[in-house]
Amino acid sequence: MNLEQLDKEFVLQTYARDYTNFTHGEGSTLFDENGVDYIDFASGIAVNSVGHNNPTLVNAICEQAKKIIHISNLQVIEPQAKLAEQICKLSNYNGAIFFANSGAEANEGAIKIARKYGETQFDKKRYKVITLEHSFHGRTITTVKATGQESFHTPSFSPYPDGFSYVNSIGDIYNSIDDETVAVLIELVQGEGGVQPFDKDEVQKLASFLKEQKVLLIVDEVQTGIYRTGEMLASNLYEIEPDIITMAKGLGGGVPIGAVMTKHKDILTAGDHGSTFGGNYLSTRAGLAVLEVLSDLYDSGRLHETLLYFETKLKDIANRYSNLFDKEVGLGLMRGLRAKDADIVSSVMKNSMAQRVIVLKAGRNTVRFLPSLTITKEEIDEGFKRFEKAISTI
Ligand SMILES: *Cc1c(COP(=O)(O)O)cnc(C)c1O
Repeated sequence: MNLEQLDKEFVLQTYARDYTNFTHGEGSTLFDENGVDYIDFASGIAVNSVGHNNPTLVNAICEQAKKIIHISNLQVIEPQAKLAEQICKLSNYNGAIFFANSGAEANEGAIKIARKYGETQFDKKRYKVITLEHSFHGRTITTVKATGQESFHTPSFSPYPDGFSYVNSIGDIYNSIDDETVAVLIELVQGEGGVQPFDKDEVQKLASFLKEQKVLLIVDEVQTGIYRTGEMLASNLYEIEPDIITMAKGLGGGVPIGAVMTKHKDILTAGDHGSTFGGNYLSTRAGLAVLEVLSDLYDSGRLHETLLYFETKLKDIANRYSNLFDKEVGLGLMRGLRAKDADIVSSVMKNSMAQRVIVLKAGRNTVRFLPSLTITKEEIDEGFKRFEKAISTI
């Protein structure tokens, strides 16, 4: 059997897969089995934050693997404690962290914290969580329920847990809060929903209103976190201090890790929550290496230069191809081109792969760009050269 046949026979077919067989990568360039190079504008959906074969990350993983990969959370884990400290420090957040293995799991943790807060802090139990339409919070039964996109709620997975409802916009949140509402869960830039950033003033106003009402603000930074929007967290960019923040994608540079951070340090106590793998030596050592690379990039001003350069290139494309795209959207290195219709997106995806540049889709009609934060100007130039070839024939 060839690779495609093997996959189709033995792997559950939950993805509409492309069958290019990538064997290695360097920075923001991927190579297939024939040595053909592709510019990677997707970074594994915002995961390979420091690119492929980053020496700092690779050395950290190799050195850690030779010592301890994993022991249980019944022992203290040095890189876990250090990574927690580093995340709090870099995001200037006075809180503590629980480590999981994915974004969905981090959000599950956030919902558990909120539910226990609602159970223990009020005379009348609060348990309801409000989320937004076009949101995305994960694929477990609870996080799929929290996801405000009908297409994910196929009736075949029901019954779902109670206590989740969706509203269309931030402005609609105010009127949907009742005395059983415990939390509002939002992304600051909706990623899967179409690379849609919310207005800073609107978010700040919501944050202070929720604080008054003692309703928790949970910000899902699974995609926006770890410098994706140009700051350590999008919450830093928006200058808010949510009650709970979740992270995952970019944190391990490709090693699975999720994190839920909260300033309510005493809500969960021993036995309330746990994870076999969460926060193990390998993933947290990887996280420390990623933060070392990215905080240097940030401090030196190079991250800022890169995102301005990328933005300029993308705006130029949006202007010159106004026949295909309405506008350029997004923040930092979380960017998109809003296409005039879904067929354009399909053609862009297909042609881009043929021109050897990897881009993503988001929502119904957005072409999405999530390059590694370490991408070079040369790689950006080459990627857009190929992208323009890809779209010029549409
Ligand atoms: C990707 C994503 C998730 C889910 O993360 P997984 O690691 O796939 O479970 C949750 N929320 C947001 C905002 C995401 O972008």
